[in-house]
Amino acid sequence: MAKATNLGFPRIGERRELKKATEAYWAGESSLDALRASGAALRRTNWAKQKAAGLDVIPSNDFSFYDGMLDMACLLGNVPSRFDWNGGHAGLDLAFAMARGTDTAIACEMTKWFDTNYHYLVPEFRADTTFTLAGSKVFDEFAEAERLGIHTRPVLIGPATYLALGKVADGSGMDKLSLADRLIPVYVEILERLAAQGADWVQLDEPVFALDLSEAQCEMIDAAYAALAQVKDIRLMVASYFGELRDNQVLFTGLPVAGLHIDAVRGAKEAAAIAATIGPETVLSLGLVDGRNIWKTDLAAARETLAACQARVETDRLELAPACSLLHCPVTLRNETRLSHAILDWLAFAEEKLGEIVFLAKAADGQVDEMHAADNKRVMHRRRHSELIHSDLVKRRVGGLTPADYRRRSGYAARASQQSAKLNLPLLPTTSIGSFPQTIDVRRARADHKKGRLSDSDYDVFLKRQIDDAVTLQENMGFDMLVHGEFERNDMVEYFGEKLEGYAFTRLGWVQSYGSRYVKPPIIYGDVQRPEAMTVKWSKYAQSRTDKPMKGMLTGPVTMVQWAFVRDDQPCSATVRQVALAIRDEICDLERAGLAAIQCDEAAFREGLPLRRADWDDYLDWATAAFRLAAGGVADATQIHTHMCYSEFNDIIEAIATMDADCISIETSRSHMELLDAFVAFDYPNEIGPGVYDIHSPRVPTVDEMTTLLDKAAQVLPIDRLWVNPDCGLKTRGWAEVKPALANMVEAARRLRGRYSQTG
Ligand code: GLN
Ligand code: ZN
Repeated sequence: MAKATNLGFPRIGERRELKKATEAYWAGESSLDALRASGAALRRTNWAKQKAAGLDVIPSNDFSFYDGMLDMACLLGNVPSRFDWNGGHAGLDLAFAMARGTDTAIACEMTKWFDTNYHYLVPEFRADTTFTLAGSKVFDEFAEAERLGIHTRPVLIGPATYLALGKVADGSGMDKLSLADRLIPVYVEILERLAAQGADWVQLDEPVFALDLSEAQCEMIDAAYAALAQVKDIRLMVASYFGELRDNQVLFTGLPVAGLHIDAVRGAKEAAAIAATIGPETVLSLGLVDGRNIWKTDLAAARETLAACQARVETDRLELAPACSLLHCPVTLRNETRLSHAILDWLAFAEEKLGEIVFLAKAADGQVDEMHAADNKRVMHRRRHSELIHSDLVKRRVGGLTPADYRRRSGYAARASQQSAKLNLPLLPTTSIGSFPQTIDVRRARADHKKGRLSDSDYDVFLKRQIDDAVTLQENMGFDMLVHGEFERNDMVEYFGEKLEGYAFTRLGWVQSYGSRYVKPPIIYGDVQRPEAMTVKWSKYAQSRTDKPMKGMLTGPVTMVQWAFVRDDQPCSATVRQVALAIRDEICDLERAGLAAIQCDEAAFREGLPLRRADWDDYLDWATAAFRLAAGGVADATQIHTHMCYSEFNDIIEAIATMDADCISIETSRSHMELLDAFVAFDYPNEIGPGVYDIHSPRVPTVDEMTTLLDKAAQVLPIDRLWVNPDCGLKTRGWAEVKPALANMVEAARRLRGRYSQTG
């Protein structure tokens, strides 16, 4: 019999119970016991849901109050010394301290989990790092489930992934892999203890198999699993996910373990070949249900992959699963009362996906639920042919695009002279990245308007007053290029998505981003188009209040797509092109409305990079093309800005140059301009605004500090192509620190300007 299994269930709760519980605890409003009880209630609910759905294998330790990598660090006693850990039990408060920092210790770094929008806490390694069994969460949760009558398969991050995702934090340049000898014995101990507790299987997550692995990594994996395989009375299910195995296939299928899980969604093409090469006893877990998108599975297509694998592996050795943990999906469709029925019909969140897994497991056994199959077939057909998805207008427009649409009329040099004639900016012009503080007033007015407590016209008046104040403030400070402040926006993607056709929004479709921070990504379900202008009203109004140039402010096409659940019925490159056309129309409308400069933010440009190097060029091609298409419709004299909230550009600088924005602003203040290196080395041809004000901190930088930073930038880049701006938008800051910081920034620019114009 094939088994229906799961790799992990969303931990946040149907109504964000986890967020409420953890934040109440952090705020000192509830006790640790109360928090623990909330966690237990969530786990109990989640196990019960999975059991009721008919799963044969249910995971434990997939729950976390913050993050699974962090839990792993605690379990392994891998706690940086600054947290004053005494070597005893590494519990929840220690984990929170590591995640959030304390008065005396800065938090561990956080970064993106592969190519998802989930963030994990980065393990820290030093030459003297040791590991010791220090946590008990995995054992406690296994026992807790047993007491509830649910025999679970505990989940751990595998050793290869744990080492690969950590960073060497002591500057020693040590080889992380050399830690394997210290690490593996603790894994052995953990497995032995789970075996003694009565666990018969353990799932080891090894998504590193979807990455390019070095030879040394492969050797480490070989040795590590040879050691883990020695543990008696426990079977290991090693889970690869987030992509194809490709050249790692031989290593993976050769692991001396009882079970192997593969991502048969992204890796559908490989599945049968892998099935053919696994050992004669090995259990194959087929991840046929997409764990990170929200569409119903095409069950007929999934069954074809299944059949191809069944031809090579006996059904008894098959498990059916989601491709990866369902952590990256919202919890349930049950509360989505505002989505149209047609769209609702196409969706499956985590709970609904469990049903698909059970269906497939039964189908593998020859018990096809024909009603379910027929219904799914009808849904797939309806979705494919739905008028909601297809717009002839959009398709015709995309079809008619020519290479000229992806190009500005002239090259940068010719544009720059026209722009400088039009804008008449001083040397080192000052500007900001877009948003100003979203004060309680701003958020309250937006909420009141949304709930109908504030009329459209009153809200209008309110927003105009905010813009007026922002304009006056910037004029008084002496800014050269102004922004309107983005007071009308909740979020840089949601605001635009709500105004575009082809986008849908859920009520409670939350997904954990990090800790208690969740996001509610929009769903791009159909051809995207812009029924009417989205920002022109505000930008035009703002420009009417000043003689200084006002910068129009938009989110770029790549970011719009990257931070959404995207269509799976066409490639991302096609979806992004449609979004680019909508943004292009907005840019042209802004130009027509009198905006001489328009910024198009691409905060998610870099994070869209595929996991494998071999796939980068293809991505960079369509991503840069999308930006160029969005920006390509304006006159030479209109200045296009872009902004990216980071500065690791070394490996993509060529693509950044290909985007051909007239000016790019980036984050550089914390690295003391070191991160400009890529731009210097590459001889970046256009204008750059290296951030001089770290907006992640409430600290007000002094004039001197910012002058020093600017000076540094001016040493390595042509001064006439330098801008002066903060690292990023200011929406999360308060006016109390923003005002003096911006005033200092403008003063720093003035000082340097004086100095450089004297020396000529
Ligand atoms: N214009 C946006 C803002 O200032 C940019 C935000 C971002 O890059 N994340 O808020
Ligand atoms: Zn930013």
